Amino acid sequence: MRTIGLLGGMSWESSAEYYRLLNEGVRDRLGGLHSARLVLASVDFAQVEAMQVAGDWEAAGRLLAAEARGVEAAGADLLLICTNTMHKVADQVQAAVGIPLLHLADATARAVQGAGIERVGLLGTAFTMEQDFYTGRLADHGLDVLVPDAPDRELVHRVIYDELCLGVVREESRQAYQRGVADLVERGARGVILGCTEIELLLGADDVDVPVFATTALHVEAALDAALG
Ligand code: GLU
Repeated sequence: MRTIGLLGGMSWESSAEYYRLLNEGVRDRLGGLHSARLVLASVDFAQVEAMQVAGDWEAAGRLLAAEARGVEAAGADLLLICTNTMHKVADQVQAAVGIPLLHLADATARAVQGAGIERVGLLGTAFTMEQDFYTGRLADHGLDVLVPDAPDRELVHRVIYDELCLGVVREESRQAYQRGVADLVERGARGVILGCTEIELLLGADDVDVPVFATTALHVEAALDAALG
């Protein structure tokens, strides 16, 4: 079994999901008392969020690159950035280490394509929904990506930072997300990407009428494939 390196804490609510899903995945695949070999560097999310708000992606990239070097030195064979948003600095992180970075958008795009879907909705932070580092990468895989209109993007973003990253799951927000998905479906989306690693805490396959692509779960599956062969 290869050792999976994780850059987490963004937020720790979703890193806890990564930890649980990776260990459950190894148990399911290998049986018995097997569990995942992991190295986790968990940052202070307040520091990262301040850099996001300031638009200081250079500093954020330096921070995550340094953490990635630590994870590699601690024995990781491959690396995951446990957030969609911080894939904004994925190139900087990959350049800092010799181990492969498993890009979340690639794992997600493969799953969407595997389901035979081309036009897909995307929910995530404003950075993820509005900037090319993520939607462009999905488009490079041949996907036609739809994002919510501006008021809905603001709502989706606010719920992530003010609720989900703080461990708060509200029924009212679930219903608001369901309305957002319904709107995307009306505009032609045949599936929806939960493009923020905390959204799975709020919304699941049973909550909407189209296939759901949950990025934390998909990233974990890609990591298990790479670690266990
Ligand atoms: N975990 C979230 C994501 O997947 C948002 C928090 C962050 O900005 O990293 O984008």
